[in-house]
Amino acid sequence: MKKIMKKRNVLPWGFLLRIGIALFLTAPSVVFGASAARASAFVTYPESWDVGQAFVVALSSNTSFDSPALTWMGRTISLDVESGREGVVSYGLLGSYVRDVRPGDYPLEFAFTQDGERFEVKRTVTLKERAYPEEKLTVEGRMVTPPKSEIARIRKEARLAAAARGTMTAERRWTTPFERPVPGVFTSGYGLRRVYNDVPKGCHAGTDFRAAVGTPVKAPFAGTVVLTGHHYYAGRSVYLDAGNGVVGLFFHMDKVKVKKGDRVKKGQTIGESGVTGRVTGPHLHFGLSLAGQYADAAPLFETSVTALLKSMKRETVRGDARGDILPPSDP
Ligand SMILES: [Zn+2]
Repeated sequence: MKKIMKKRNVLPWGFLLRIGIALFLTAPSVVFGASAARASAFVTYPESWDVGQAFVVALSSNTSFDSPALTWMGRTISLDVESGREGVVSYGLLGSYVRDVRPGDYPLEFAFTQDGERFEVKRTVTLKERAYPEEKLTVEGRMVTPPKSEIARIRKEARLAAAARGTMTAERRWTTPFERPVPGVFTSGYGLRRVYNDVPKGCHAGTDFRAAVGTPVKAPFAGTVVLTGHHYYAGRSVYLDAGNGVVGLFFHMDKVKVKKGDRVKKGQTIGESGVTGRVTGPHLHFGLSLAGQYADAAPLFETSVTALLKSMKRETVRGDARGDILPPSDP
């Protein structure tokens, strides 16, 4: 505990808590000191990353821990505990929505329970500026300024979507690389600043794939369907929870072939692409929500967690053992 709290970014209340826990643990630590000394824990995270881009973090140890969690952008994210070659490991997939998050320093907190103690490790991730281009689109006027009669419907759908994106389950069912939902190329990337009929309307919160109407749409990762609907802007849509705050969104579909509560395998057909909602033509919009932050999914169709972790910083936060605690297979 002491070793971790000495690191930078100690929480203001941490000092008082440390005194309390130190007093409380003085006697037991004599008895359990030997086993506690052998435990080592590591965090892996990016010191800096581009705003809008997804990144991977890991918490690992040579011995078991419980209730691993992350706190990022005001949300607490539950993680799975998986066995690795030399211990246990938990992975998280995080990001930042370029529309809402400015470049700068942001706190990232890892928490876990080990040897009966709760550890909190606070670090900083510097989000760097990244320029996303502008895109001009022409759509039906009612899709830029919706008629008054549709306002209540749009608000209701926004609430349903926010609740679906807020789903937090600990079981990690996403694996990398993601499988492409349709075979077509990317036609419009994440982060584009969109101007509809000369009216700036925020930015593109997903990746568009070329797809003729009726193309089977496959799940890029395993998950559970948390919402389906026929929404004003999104058209026929599916929200798929893959655990740890990772939720995939599929918009403008012609047919939806799953329902709320369905457990879906990676690569399983969930519907057919279409031209419903606010669209300029047939395509599939895939959105990736990471603990409520829309992030760029495109790189995750090409790269794996193992590859991403190699570009991250790895630090010992407990004990002094070395070792690469990775899972038996590529997550
Ligand atoms: Zn789109």
